[in-house]
Amino acid sequence: MTPPDPKVLAKIRVVLARTSHPGNIGAAARAMKTMGLTQLYLVDPAIYPNSQADAMASGAVDLLAQARVCATLAEALADTVLALGVSARRRDIVAEVLTPPEAAGRLLVEAQVAPVALVFGNETSGLSNEELALCQALVTIPANPDYSSLNLAAAVQVLSYEIRQAWLGQPGWPQPELDAASGAELENFYAHLETALADLEFLNPGSPGKLMLKLRRLFSRSRLAKEEVNILRGILTAAQTGRQSRQK
Ligand code: SAH
Repeated sequence: MTPPDPKVLAKIRVVLARTSHPGNIGAAARAMKTMGLTQLYLVDPAIYPNSQADAMASGAVDLLAQARVCATLAEALADTVLALGVSARRRDIVAEVLTPPEAAGRLLVEAQVAPVALVFGNETSGLSNEELALCQALVTIPANPDYSSLNLAAAVQVLSYEIRQAWLGQPGWPQPELDAASGAELENFYAHLETALADLEFLNPGSPGKLMLKLRRLFSRSRLAKEEVNILRGILTAAQTGRQSRQK
């Protein structure tokens, strides 16, 4: 049997959004390294770097030293083709909810060709609506319904463990079905969509309501390929140009 490929694990990043306690960042790094994950991204951490993070990381300080600190979640996800939000169920924002083993399988398939991410929220508030809107699906840890909120680093441990078990158990994964658009391509598309809908007077920029969140949910459900994003953007440009010329 061919041994599993460590390069695939190196494409799976753990993104911690707006972490409050530096100790959790260190403990998350340790949780990752014990399972063979290496890519840690920190989005706007409250306190970092910090000696508590180093102490809790123990032998995983190398992961902290090479962690990427980003100002926004969009920046941390720009080159990813799949971002899974680790969260309690929020079907109002993201349609698809995966179990940890399902998530591990999906990540391992896509990580063969491009970076993928698991996104964890703040200790108190979890992932915001805006952060969830950047994720294509959710992963929920089926915990005790009477007390289901794990410590952040414990949640990182559970998901990292599932990825490692799936990776060890199946050396060959099927190739991804789709040449999926990257995070940056999706964000550019949504920005274009919002501008075009405002130009067409379908969306009132003064009171946009939840329209963009709902449209993001629709497109996340169908998972857009690079080519489909180009077609949709071409349609938007044609609609914008058509309107301009009718107005002349
Ligand atoms: N009160 C927050 C809990 C945050 S716990 C909330 O309601 O969301 C910190 C992070 O750990 C969460 O943002 C999530 O990424 C992860 N987490 C904790 N428990 C989880 C669970 N049961 N399922 C999925 N993610 C969980």
